[in-house]
Amino acid sequence: MSVGVGDEQASSVARYAVIGHPVGHSLSPLIHRQFALETKQALSYDLVQVDAGDAQDFNKAVDAFFSDTGGAGTAKGLNVTLPFKEQAAAWVDRLNPAAQLAGAVNTIRRAADGSFDGFNTDGSGLLADIQSNLGWDIGGNRVLLIGAGGASRGALDALLSAQPKELVLANRTLSRAEELIAQIAPAAANVTLCAPAEVEGSFDIVINATSASLAGQGALVPTAAVKGARCYDMLYAPTQTVFSGWALSHGAIWAVDGLGMLLEQAADAFELWRGIRPATATLLAQRNDLFAAKRAGFESLADWFASAEYLQWQTATQTDTQTNAQTDVQPAPEREKRQFIAGAVCPECRAVDRIVVRSTSAGREQACVACGFSQPAPGAESAPPSDSALMLPQGKHERPASLANNIDGATDRDEVQTVRFIDPQTTPSRTDE
Ligand code: NAP
Repeated sequence: MSVGVGDEQASSVARYAVIGHPVGHSLSPLIHRQFALETKQALSYDLVQVDAGDAQDFNKAVDAFFSDTGGAGTAKGLNVTLPFKEQAAAWVDRLNPAAQLAGAVNTIRRAADGSFDGFNTDGSGLLADIQSNLGWDIGGNRVLLIGAGGASRGALDALLSAQPKELVLANRTLSRAEELIAQIAPAAANVTLCAPAEVEGSFDIVINATSASLAGQGALVPTAAVKGARCYDMLYAPTQTVFSGWALSHGAIWAVDGLGMLLEQAADAFELWRGIRPATATLLAQRNDLFAAKRAGFESLADWFASAEYLQWQTATQTDTQTNAQTDVQPAPEREKRQFIAGAVCPECRAVDRIVVRSTSAGREQACVACGFSQPAPGAESAPPSDSALMLPQGKHERPASLANNIDGATDRDEVQTVRFIDPQTTPSRTDE
């Protein structure tokens, strides 16, 4: 499906997709089509289901996606989801530092010369949601990360970059957590490991990066760990996740799901592809619409809002809300609306992490919520994403000639982008940075 301003001809449209096994449940097409409308970008975004879960099938499907011009427009990028993020890291020509460290890629971008860059935006997405959308401070705080699968792999370095006082990594299979630490943070003095049942003490932030909620399991760690904590379940769902429900009923002061992370990592990918960052706040606020549109099989939120089903759903939802109010059922916790700039210091009162960006009739401004100081926001939107400057070359990768030459219809961003390639031999290790 093509969307955006200027989608006159499908053949001139840049093509993107999410690839995985399975992918039918993915919200990514709805999200990226909405981003395209909002940023006035002409593109298509589809689902690519790989029939089986092995690397050969994945490679074939990715080759086919990028080879196929067939009048459908030029394939420019892919999002990669379970279970192929590691295979994607082997498929691309270069990795950005986050993908290199995680050994996993969730975003592939075709460069102007027809080669392919791999990025991992899971960690930056998680951090943006926790710090900017939710306004939770990681720096100086005690953080518990439960799980050592692909999601933790992407998140661990990003969390450490926010300088928690201590990060405890707990996983059911301890050896997986040990491998993760050895690979990502071997020298980090503030990281400790344990089995979930052996987690000790209380935490400021608890992040569930397991898929246990899907199996109906919420009680992963001792209740003392979540009492008084802000809890984050990376899983996203139309209703409260099992872990969030369990945490709130055991004294957590806050519990949210991972929809914000999904939106932020998608916005990062969109920016890498198109050179323009879509806003996520509106979609976050439209979470119920996203899930309802998906459930009803709509291809875009625009179609959903224009449909008769939407009107019926609205009426039914209002009735539900009234019923909930009458029976005192707790609605899912609302997100704080603040958009803090992580690490920003107020020039007036010196408060840290209290600067928000907001729109006024005079334009965008930065304001301190502690003292009220405000100043015009710098025009940061045209700056290139910092990740794009640091790409690490992969080993040689054979691919069909049609892929390397297939750069017709490259975006403006692809044409002008300067990528500095770094020899991994001379790249400083994380602890040297
Ligand atoms: P994964 O690679 O399959 O890893 C699953 C993790 O969950 C492992 O640590 C596993 O422990 C643990 N686990 C599974 N069932 C468990 C149970 N019953 N009790 C305790 N631990 C259990 O999956 P993943 O890619 O890391 O994804 C994890 C979660 O994050 C999923 O819910 C996924 O939807 C979510 N996610 C969200 C986003 C987002 O944008 N919001 C992005 C990525 C992932 P073992 O090692 O012991 O098996």
